[in-house]
Amino acid sequence: MCDLTRRNLLLSTAFMAGAAKAADEINSAVNLAKDVYFHQGDLEHQGHCNNGWIIFKDYVLVIDANFPSGAQNILPKIRALTPKPIRFAFDTHHHGDHAYGNQVWIDNGATPVAHTGVIEEMKRYETGYYDDKPGRWEEAAKERPDVAASHLAPPSVLFPRELYFDDGEHRVELIHLGVAHTHGDAMAWLPKEKILFTGDACVNGPYNFVGDGNIEKWIATLDAAKKLGAQAVCPGHGPRGVETVLGDQQLFFQELSRSVDRRVKAKQSARQVFEAVGQIREQIVAQPRIARYVDKDGIAAQVEKVYNEMTGKSFPPDTKTSHQARLLHRHAHAAG
Ligand SMILES: [Zn+2]
Repeated sequence: MCDLTRRNLLLSTAFMAGAAKAADEINSAVNLAKDVYFHQGDLEHQGHCNNGWIIFKDYVLVIDANFPSGAQNILPKIRALTPKPIRFAFDTHHHGDHAYGNQVWIDNGATPVAHTGVIEEMKRYETGYYDDKPGRWEEAAKERPDVAASHLAPPSVLFPRELYFDDGEHRVELIHLGVAHTHGDAMAWLPKEKILFTGDACVNGPYNFVGDGNIEKWIATLDAAKKLGAQAVCPGHGPRGVETVLGDQQLFFQELSRSVDRRVKAKQSARQVFEAVGQIREQIVAQPRIARYVDKDGIAAQVEKVYNEMTGKSFPPDTKTSHQARLLHRHAHAAG
C-alpha cells in the first residue's frame, strides 16, 4: 500500500467512532459466540482482509482465504483453539485479499468454496491463469512476496445461490444475495447467532472499491442483507459492528447516487459532475452516519461509477479518474 493511501486510511480512521476499540482488535481473534470467531485483518500494513471461522463438531470452516500471508497469520490462531481439521475456506469474492490465499488453505487440508460468480470473475481478471497474458495475480506478485511465492488456486466447490453447513449444532448459510462489490459476492449467515459475515459487500470505513461491481444493484443487495435480521455484522474490512453498518454502507451509496442523479437531471456535463466531486465529498463528510466511508482519493472514482451507470458515459480522459481508480484498486485489493 502506498504512503498516500496509508496516510489517507489513518486520517479516515480518525473519523471513525470507536476507533480505539477497532485498533485494539486488529490482528486478534474475537470470540463472537460459542465456536464463532472474527479476526480483523491488518489492512494498513499488510493489506489483509478480515476473517471469520466457525468450529463445527468435526471440522472448521474459515471465512475468506485472505492473501497468502493473511492465511499464514490466522492459521496458528485457529490451531491454538482447536485440533479439528480446517476443511473449508469460503471466498466471499474473487479479489486477491480474499482469495489469493486459497493455496495455503489447500496445503493445510482445506478446500476453497465460493459462489459460481467468483469463477466467472476470475476468468475475467485472472488472464494469467486462464489465458496466457498476465492478469491481476501477476500484477500483485510484483509487489507482494507472499503472492509471488504461491500460486492461484480457484475455488473448486461451487454453489449457484446457496450452500448450507449444518451439523445440528451450528448452521452457516453461504448465500449470494445479488451483485454488489463484484458480480460474485456471497455472505456467510449464521441464523442461530444472527451473525453476518459480509465480505466487501459491506465494509466499515473508507474501503469501497467499486470497479468490479454495480452500485445500483449493490444498494438492492444490501436491502436483502438487511432483511436477514443480523445483530452482529462482520465486514470485509474495518471493525465489526451491529446491524446498522449495513444501513450506513447503503446510505453512503444512496447519497452518492442522489447527488449524481440531481446533476444528471440538471443536464450537467461529465466535466461538471467531475468538478462537483469536492462538493459531493463535503456533503457526505457532513453526515455523521456515513462520513467514515469517504476516501479522499477514491471518491472521484465512486462518483464516476455512479455517473457511468446512470448515463453510460465516463469522465473526460484528462481527469484521470479511471487511472486513479485502477491504482486504488491495486493498492486496496491486489497489492495491499
Ligand atoms: Zn474486494
